[in-house]
Amino acid sequence: MTNQKEIEKRRTFGIIAHPDAGKTTLTEKLLLFGGAIQTAGAVKSNKIKKTATSDFMEIEKQRGISVATSVMAFDYRGKHINILDTPGHKDFAEDTYRTLTAVDSVILVIDNASGVESQTEKLMEVCRMRNTPVIVFINKMDRYGKDAFDVLDEIEQKLGIGVRPLAWPIGMGDDFKGVYNMYKHELSLFDANKTNISEELVKFNDLSDPALDEIIGEKAARELREEVELVDGVYDPFNQEDYLSGKIAPVFFGSAVNNFGVRELLEAFVEISPSPRGRDTDAGFVEPNDPKFSGFVFKIHANLDPNHRDRIAFLRIVSGKFERNTFYKHIRNNKKMKFANPTSFMAQEKSIVDEAYPGDVIGLYDSSNFKIGDTLTEGKDFNFVGIPSFSPEFFQELRNDDPMKSKQLEKGIRQLMDEGVAQMFIQEPGSRKIVGTVGQLQFEVILYRLLHEYGAKCSFTPMNYHKACWITSDKPEEIEKFMRAKVGSIAKDKDENYVFLAETSFLLEMAERDYPEITFHKTSEFK
Ligand code: GDP
Repeated sequence: MTNQKEIEKRRTFGIIAHPDAGKTTLTEKLLLFGGAIQTAGAVKSNKIKKTATSDFMEIEKQRGISVATSVMAFDYRGKHINILDTPGHKDFAEDTYRTLTAVDSVILVIDNASGVESQTEKLMEVCRMRNTPVIVFINKMDRYGKDAFDVLDEIEQKLGIGVRPLAWPIGMGDDFKGVYNMYKHELSLFDANKTNISEELVKFNDLSDPALDEIIGEKAARELREEVELVDGVYDPFNQEDYLSGKIAPVFFGSAVNNFGVRELLEAFVEISPSPRGRDTDAGFVEPNDPKFSGFVFKIHANLDPNHRDRIAFLRIVSGKFERNTFYKHIRNNKKMKFANPTSFMAQEKSIVDEAYPGDVIGLYDSSNFKIGDTLTEGKDFNFVGIPSFSPEFFQELRNDDPMKSKQLEKGIRQLMDEGVAQMFIQEPGSRKIVGTVGQLQFEVILYRLLHEYGAKCSFTPMNYHKACWITSDKPEEIEKFMRAKVGSIAKDKDENYVFLAETSFLLEMAERDYPEITFHKTSEFK
């Protein structure tokens, strides 16, 4: 088969949601439809339930689960679908943001009762930065929740994206009768059913058909007719281009746990979602049908077994064809590498792959050659760009409690930074090590891993910073002036870029006002 056919077959996406909205449940139902798993309960939630930071083993266990569920592939209607898992816990949000650089579209799950929640907003910000196409699934319709129009308004207002319902719910909670698919003119009747995947479908080309009253009752039929008319009046007809450019999100309703509305979602997904897209590099855009292989690492996972220190680097293939035991160039290290055991993930099974195509994600066993953001190509020299490193919000000074283990500590810290667990800034005088993270939980993970994987005993002293912003300016004298004025609040990141450690949001705003020639960046790209 030619590359082009393989590319067109592939759909690589992520499911994003605020914790508890139903991401794990929906993932499982999609895998059931795809025949990748046989029973419900097979997909383990990767959520970190405990925020009690002392439970290291729980964190470790969860990390183990998250590697097992990092990529889940299945086939459906001639398409090869890759679901990339995204941790829902906010302390692991950076991991999720970076995973979003490796998908071509997302399904956003919203809990019908909670509406748009804080994590939903953050995740959508990342999608908007990249114009990622989004399909919305409003879940838990079997419970009483918000009015459908209100949820849609909330999405438009809080998430800054237009919506277009393609299905409409009939009632909710105990009165939930089903969903009318406005796109296919089909009515699906709800039957709470957790295991079976059949749904009763009735074709209705015209909602004024009196049979509708007989099936769902006069009141519900009247309401459905009114609401569908309103929807058609308020929202523009669905336009696939607007979806693909990330402007409009089509919306579906259902109940994942009851397997309801999931099939419609999946069918619409395979019909409208994009096939693998190209990516930007520092030498121009690379299209998926470029015959030369290229890909980038967006996630690195350490082996949980301390006797096997190798890691798995997750590589998204952008162009060409990846082949096992073939030499490719690791651009940053300027080194040729080949892989004897590249791994693919089919639901719960891992297996060795001989070849993989754009859109696919493979796991490469690695003994610390890779960093997040690394590019692998078939020879040409370029680097993929756009894998963000976010401005951390929690800061602690790292102290070495065992001077005999300084080397191990250096090595451990470097590797954890390569994995993207946290960022480190060095502050002079004294080369203070300031570790910045996006969540408090990371500090516990770092201490635990430094001790158990590298034998380095350390401790943290909290620091009161609000944000670390990278500073740049076209006028070097402005940077110098700023650094003189803020000498105690300047540090360097691992690539020797200057960052301003602002103690409060007020001080950051003041700095932005007083130094208009300086840009204060909230994200930096991994280099
Ligand atoms: P995640 O945190 O987004 O992965 O959420 P889960 O898939 O683990 O779901 C959170 C909880 O919501 C679980 O107890 C699910 O059984 C429940 N749940 C998921 N979908 C539905 C649904 O459609 N209706 C109801 N009533 N509960 C649901």
